[in-house]
Amino acid sequence: MRRRLGVMGGTFDPIHHGHLVAASEVAHLFALDEVIFVPTGQPWMKEGRKTSPAEDRYLMTVIATASNPRFSVSRVDIDRPGKTYTIDTLREMREIHGPDAELFFITGADALAEILSWRDADELFNLAHFIGCTRPGHNLADPGLPGGGVSLVEVPALAISSTECRERVLAGEPVWYLVPDGIVQYINKRGLYRDD
Ligand code: ATP
Ligand code: MG
Repeated sequence: MRRRLGVMGGTFDPIHHGHLVAASEVAHLFALDEVIFVPTGQPWMKEGRKTSPAEDRYLMTVIATASNPRFSVSRVDIDRPGKTYTIDTLREMREIHGPDAELFFITGADALAEILSWRDADELFNLAHFIGCTRPGHNLADPGLPGGGVSLVEVPALAISSTECRERVLAGEPVWYLVPDGIVQYINKRGLYRDD
């Protein structure tokens, strides 16, 4: 039997319940054996702001996924220098897990829209099946999605973003129940997002 592996890339700055619900739902719908969360590499300015250190984002991802036996975290992107490209992530996953693994790349509706502009689309679709998840505030029904390699699925809607979590921490507003308890505590312990 081929192993069915989900791959969920993200900045995870911080990881929140929207990420976790999407991964859990896709794992259920596609009978995945495992979902591997892959935090993006550093250095990497996202929308003009400095991303938190890779080790903090990696540890938060580990903390948030530790209790789920089917969730794991990979360091491949944070250990590779330079900007993260999904093609590199998937090539490395293919190398690590061998030809017997069947890869499913999980993205939200917003990130999926960018697939259209990815240059190596053909190779991407050979490496993995792409699964686009609904995300409140974003439209999944974008025209022009390449046929075949992409599945669109509806996941329970959680209108949570990392951007909003960071803004709330900066404003002194609670992020309890938007992120796992351990992530609230880690953010406080490390003083993340207090001076943006
Ligand atoms: P930021 O606001 O910093 O961009 P984010 O909340 O979008 O953070 P990312 O780390 O950028 O989180 O997202 C990683 C992946 O998770 C992307 O594919 C994104 O579309 C998806 N995702 C994020 N939040 C949700 C959500 N609430 N529901 C479904 N998918 C989500
Ligand atoms: Mg995002």
